[in-house]
Amino acid sequence: MNNKNFVIQLIVMVIIIAVTITILSLYNLRTTGVKSALHNAESISEVIKSGLTSHMVNNNMDQIDTFLQSVSNIKNVEKLWLVRSDLLNQQFNTNKKNAPRDDIDKEVLRTGQMRYEIDESVTKTLVRVSIPYNAIADKGIDCLRCHMVPHEATLGAVSLVLDISTIKEIGIESIYIISLLILASIIFIILFSKRILNPYIKLFEKFKTNMAQATMGKFKKIAAPKGLSNDMLHITEDYNNLITTFKDTAGDIDKKLQGFVGHNISNKNRNPLNESKEIINNLSNLYQFKKQVEHDDTKEEIYSRLADVLKNKFKITNFTFVEIDMLKHKMTKVQESGESFYCEKTMCESPELCRAARTKNDVVSIDYHNSCPYFEKEDKFYYCFNINIAKSLYLIVHCVCNTKTELEELKDQVIFIRSYLKESAPALEVKQLMNALKESAFRDGLTGLYNRKFLDEHTKKLIPQARREEMNIGVLMLDMDHFKAVNDEYGHDIGDKVLKELARILEETVRESDLVIRYGGEEFIILLVGVKTEEDALAVAHKIGQNVRENEIDVYAGSKLRKTVSLGLSMFPNDSTSIDAVLKNADIALYEAKNSGRDKVIRFNEEQVSSVDLF
Ligand code: GH3
Ligand code: MG
Ligand code: MG
Repeated sequence: MNNKNFVIQLIVMVIIIAVTITILSLYNLRTTGVKSALHNAESISEVIKSGLTSHMVNNNMDQIDTFLQSVSNIKNVEKLWLVRSDLLNQQFNTNKKNAPRDDIDKEVLRTGQMRYEIDESVTKTLVRVSIPYNAIADKGIDCLRCHMVPHEATLGAVSLVLDISTIKEIGIESIYIISLLILASIIFIILFSKRILNPYIKLFEKFKTNMAQATMGKFKKIAAPKGLSNDMLHITEDYNNLITTFKDTAGDIDKKLQGFVGHNISNKNRNPLNESKEIINNLSNLYQFKKQVEHDDTKEEIYSRLADVLKNKFKITNFTFVEIDMLKHKMTKVQESGESFYCEKTMCESPELCRAARTKNDVVSIDYHNSCPYFEKEDKFYYCFNINIAKSLYLIVHCVCNTKTELEELKDQVIFIRSYLKESAPALEVKQLMNALKESAFRDGLTGLYNRKFLDEHTKKLIPQARREEMNIGVLMLDMDHFKAVNDEYGHDIGDKVLKELARILEETVRESDLVIRYGGEEFIILLVGVKTEEDALAVAHKIGQNVRENEIDVYAGSKLRKTVSLGLSMFPNDSTSIDAVLKNADIALYEAKNSGRDKVIRFNEEQVSSVDLF
């Protein structure tokens, strides 16, 4: 409410009060006027009654008209007439003399009671009154002496029309004067008090705007206007202290939260308390997430948790998580939701081309040119997050949006999504290291092949699966022929080199789904997983023998070395449904190969068992 409004409201109030007073006073005046008119009428009628009586008694009725004329000259008497009752007319044989002029006259003659009516117009107020003249008989006047009528019979009436407008006019005049006086004094008071009220109104306005600004995060002090009372000065000072504390605290919270979430939170016109609440909520969720991730067992669990957060919290529906190993040039898809992996073809062929992994930065669609040339969907938009989870290993969270608005919404959430990814990174790194450690425990240090421990662990899963799927496994046991001689002749280093060459040949000869294991020393096991027939298995074994035989190894100073291997083959489940028995069978067959001249492949058969037993 401003100053002007306040004054207008006061004036309207004064007018309403003045009008109410006027109406009430008019009503009172009218009542008073009517009462005094009736009183006057009664007095006049008394005068007329006694005048009439004395004229009658003194027998000079001929002068009665002059008497009445003089009475009707009384101020405010508009009309005056006498009415005679039928009783008198009968007595004096005066037919219809002074007959009643209206209904009031008639009623007064009939009832013997006074009656009046008020005739009001805008300009005039008239009181029409008739007062009966009843026959009485007491010491002073005894009407019954002259009139032959019953006691208290109505002889006639005095009828008057009195004008009471003057009283009303005087009343209205004085009301207007009073109202004007009230109005003038109120205006005077308003003008006078305006000087006193003004600072309070100004202060109120300042409170109003400052409060509104405070909810938008702008904390301003109030400069107290001059002319305030001490109490108000105290209130203003308290408000200023409160606002200063609030400003400092909000600034403090702001700075601390910036540290947590890494961006400026109060740059928009928003209520800092609400914003802080929202950020603390997010931080609490993030903390919960971090705790859960720490307790997850595998990278896959963490990835699936992250995918849930993207879907449920950030409402992102189309995304792919890929791991890109820049050293091994390897890409692994680890999570997928909706349709999004529009660069899959390139990533499969050359993962090192991934722009996010290569630049170690986020990559996002830009309006006028394609920031990533491998995203093959022109009508869609993308945002690729890059998270380094181990040396040269990157997790790329590739999100795809259908519209630009969707991308803008995603960009607004990037800070928070990144917080979740950042919190997952250490846990992912730990899992990655653990995987590597586990892997190294299952690997042979010299050749990089799986070791015997791996064979033991892996067969626990592989054999039941093979049984379920009725799958054949060809088991080859391989031993290098006269390997000891290599060591003896060329030394252990060359011996190691020969073993590494052999490992390479083995891996290159068999399928990727087959397993090559260094069983110990220069003995190897090859599991031909899912091999169709025994013949196929034998063919692979012969191929190995041939590849080794044909391979030349540089020993030193241009000299080359050729080696051979002996192989024993046993088939799962044809020879036995126990893998240990099949391994043993393959070993027996190998023994047979050695015994029968080396550089050959021998298929296991039951007879070999008895011949082995002979030794
Ligand atoms: P055979 O044809 O009967 O198999 O003859 P061989 O000389 O290969 O005989 P044997 O299997 O007894 O010899 C294995 C040798 O392999 C003994 C050991 O010194 C050597 N050896 C085992 N592991 C390694 C290794 O990691 N590096 C090197 N350089 N030699 C190894
Ligand atoms: Mg051996
Ligand atoms: Mg050997």
